[in-house]
Amino acid sequence: MREPVCAYIAVGANVGDARQAACNAIAAIGRLPGVALRRQSSLYRTAPLDSSGPDYVNAVVEVATRLTAPELLALLQRLETEAGRERPYRNAPRTLDLDLLLYGTGRIDSAVLVVPHPRMRERAFVLVPLAEIAPSRVSTDELARVASQRIEALPPASLVP
Ligand code: ADP
Ligand code: MG
Repeated sequence: MREPVCAYIAVGANVGDARQAACNAIAAIGRLPGVALRRQSSLYRTAPLDSSGPDYVNAVVEVATRLTAPELLALLQRLETEAGRERPYRNAPRTLDLDLLLYGTGRIDSAVLVVPHPRMRERAFVLVPLAEIAPSRVSTDELARVASQRIEALPPASLVP
């Protein structure tokens, strides 16, 4: 059997109860066959970037997986669909967006999957939570380049009345 690979997944939601959608998605990722949840970042509230609608709730999780990257993406897309995601147009507001950021040290460039995710280094909503759980994967220069993008950590749910 294949050795497990360490992968990072970005979770984002901005329709309905985005915080709940993000929490549900993280739990669902942990239940996927062949996937073990290793770490999860705080939840963050972020301004929409190249997108419309209310603020997003974002997080990044680290998993260990025996799935191939295309297999993992297919299961993540199924979770998006189950969360009621529709794709009426590019960058439309979404109930759930799951992006595969990193898959071990792998580089993939196919029609349906590009890893490392090509836009992750431009996005504070990816880099800040990724730096929280995997500081060696993000440089201070990269964080400085996205410092103008609004992002704030949400308090843990247990502190919310
Ligand atoms: P985005 O996340 O870029 O805002 P979508 O979630 O609608 O947009 O994804 C569009 C397409 O991007 C998907 O159909 C998927 O095949 C492709 N894609 C390519 N690379 C990745 C990746 N690393 N993670 C997630 N989707 C990817
Ligand atoms: Mg996506």
